[in-house]
Amino acid sequence: MEYSIALAGNPNVGKTSLYNRITHSLEHVGNWHGVTVSKISKSVLFDHKQVLVTDLPGFYSMTVYSFEEAVSRDAVLSGDHNLIVSVAEVNNLARNLYLTMQLLELDVPVILVVNMMDELKKQGKVLNYRKLERALKIPIVPMSAKYHSDVHLLLEVALDYIDRYDGNSVELTYLDRLPLKDVEAVIGENAVRAGFKKRYAAIKVLEKDSFVLEKLALSEAQTKALETLGDWQARVAQYRYEFIDSVTEGAISRNVSDLHREMHEHEKHAVPIESQTGQASSANDVRKSVSEERHLKRHDKYAEKALYMHGYSRIDRIVLNKYLALPIFLLVMAAVFVITFGLVGNWLSALLDLGIEKLVYQPLTSWLNGINTPGWAVDLLGDGIIHGVGGILTFLPQVVLLFFFLALLEDSGYISRVAFMTDGLFRKIGLSGRSAFTMLMGFGCSATAVLTARGLEDDMMRKKTVLLTPFMSCSARLPVYSVIAAAFFTGGAAAAKPFIIFAMYILGAAIALIAAAVFEKGVKKMKSGKLSFIMEMPPYRRPTAERVFQLIMHNAKVFLIRVGTTIFTLNVIVWLLSNFSVRGYVPEVGGYSFLQSVSMFVAPVFKPLGFGEWRAVTALVSGLVAKEVVVSVIESFGGPAVVFVGQYAALSAVTFMIFTLLYIPCIATLTAIGKEIGRRWAVFSFVFQLIVAYAVALVFRGIGLLFCISPGWTAGILIGVLTAAVCALTAVSYLRRRKSGCGGCCGGCNGCDRSRK
Ligand code: GDP
Ligand code: MG
Repeated sequence: MEYSIALAGNPNVGKTSLYNRITHSLEHVGNWHGVTVSKISKSVLFDHKQVLVTDLPGFYSMTVYSFEEAVSRDAVLSGDHNLIVSVAEVNNLARNLYLTMQLLELDVPVILVVNMMDELKKQGKVLNYRKLERALKIPIVPMSAKYHSDVHLLLEVALDYIDRYDGNSVELTYLDRLPLKDVEAVIGENAVRAGFKKRYAAIKVLEKDSFVLEKLALSEAQTKALETLGDWQARVAQYRYEFIDSVTEGAISRNVSDLHREMHEHEKHAVPIESQTGQASSANDVRKSVSEERHLKRHDKYAEKALYMHGYSRIDRIVLNKYLALPIFLLVMAAVFVITFGLVGNWLSALLDLGIEKLVYQPLTSWLNGINTPGWAVDLLGDGIIHGVGGILTFLPQVVLLFFFLALLEDSGYISRVAFMTDGLFRKIGLSGRSAFTMLMGFGCSATAVLTARGLEDDMMRKKTVLLTPFMSCSARLPVYSVIAAAFFTGGAAAAKPFIIFAMYILGAAIALIAAAVFEKGVKKMKSGKLSFIMEMPPYRRPTAERVFQLIMHNAKVFLIRVGTTIFTLNVIVWLLSNFSVRGYVPEVGGYSFLQSVSMFVAPVFKPLGFGEWRAVTALVSGLVAKEVVVSVIESFGGPAVVFVGQYAALSAVTFMIFTLLYIPCIATLTAIGKEIGRRWAVFSFVFQLIVAYAVALVFRGIGLLFCISPGWTAGILIGVLTAAVCALTAVSYLRRRKSGCGGCCGGCNGCDRSRK
């Protein structure tokens, strides 16, 4: 028999970390909610038994609000899994147990993993998990998924529990306080027909869960009968939390001696579970005293925020400071770019380039010439493959560094701060801080970033986020800027290279924000709905050396495979088509190659932009499949100096850079957009980006020609003005940010499930 277990829990509790440990995988882990957006499964062999492990997207409750949460709810309801491993984070135990309780209510086999025990240990605290085990009557496994690979114990407990499972024995006494029998009497038949367990359906009806209500398809008379029972929605959550409070009270204690004392007391008095659960009033007392404590500390702003915001740290006093937040963000990003494209990355790339030239290109071509290889074959190998594909290969260090820094920023928890601080501005233009995360991920790869928008509950907001993400400059576009900038910014201007590249990233982001504002304010149909979802701020976390190493190796591998397959094949095809005609090898027989004759029809369209030349157009068209190919094709034609010619060659080249940044996303992204929000939107994205790219490039070139000063300076001035405008806009919005009641994030008040409604 194959066992099937699913990892379920709130976002950011370490499910994927645990999944990676169990299955030896390298799935995306990030210190942020909404990293995992779909189910992932892998089978492992444990103790001669086959175990299928499934990682689910994070969800707070079985009553869900977004597409990705629905994936998890459906997985739990499907009954496909022999066991649900409810993963909780020890620092947020009570809130995390809110979901565990619902799994128990559903009466499916559940065990609980309490993760991040290392963080508790650092605080000098201990968890009395035996006490929890006694109260919940399910196996509980403490865990530090990030540091230890001690997953054997978990698998052992899990499989053993599956084998001996005979229903959950915990008595959920709070359910007796709800009129479940009355509800069941009304909806019984419908629940059976819809495939729900009666008790579960009754609870969800009291919670006004729209999914269950829809499935039940109640008649008007039934709905009326339910209305007579009154409104229980808030009370369901309240009773659950009261039960959780009674279960968790005293479960975490300061140090070992406290724990020993408590265990001793427990042994002496052995309180029966039933009376423990009846401790609602004492739990309320604790709450009252906590709120008094909060009141006392009001004068201390940090203490106040730290109490209300889970994850708020002392560093945030600076990082999220009204005046410093934005400059710090820009500085951090600039530092990343200077290291990636300037100092370290550039040096490593140049070294690799030199290596390829001296160790591969020169010896190989002279050897091939020596043995009288036909000219076209030498050119194909030398220009098409070694210069073209090798040219992309030299970007390995830069791409790996970029992904590494993105992961570092994400893993540390900084990117969620960025989302938090941009939330004010983003909401004004119909997006949310949550969209900022998706967009920042777009710096890595648009096709995968688009998927992270699934967590956005408002449909139009999700669509807009998906449509705007490809404007963010993905890593495949960076070789284009780098190669062109290196060719035209030489001598004294060479130092400006990283900043020119940085400016491209800012320009992409600015266009995305402007487009969002236009959609929101100018197109009625595209206006976003109001968001009830509150953002969550995770605590800062340090990435481990093991993970950093894994990340570097993983990204290098992905890049190399991509270069070795897609880019290699495309390059060879493009080279053959652009060097052969029906009569043979063009440089030998003369005339126009296949691609040249086709591109010449399209080229005039790009004349106003300054690069209406068949080579540049060929590069752009090939870039549709993968953006890296734009530059590998340019390289195989002999480099930017051959492709961009004429009086204002440099200006044309920079205009080309802008066009490449903004035009049509690659096919993989278009497919992802089609899958996420529909084919029609994918077509819209295609046309929209093309128009925007053309318009912005045209304006840029116009201004460049108008000034007729050095094109490099024109680029600098234009992009500088744009950067300043975006900064000013963000700063104004940030300063005017309304203070929301709970500080804009959840976690402290346990009222999450209610405030989300
Ligand atoms: P998921 O959203 O539940 O899948 O959570 P992830 O596996 O993506 O992890 C969220 C964050 O918590 C990441 O920054 C992890 O590195 C971190 N994390 C996961 N497990 C642990 C742990 O046991 N201890 C600590 N300190 N951090 C952890
Ligand atoms: Mg995950």
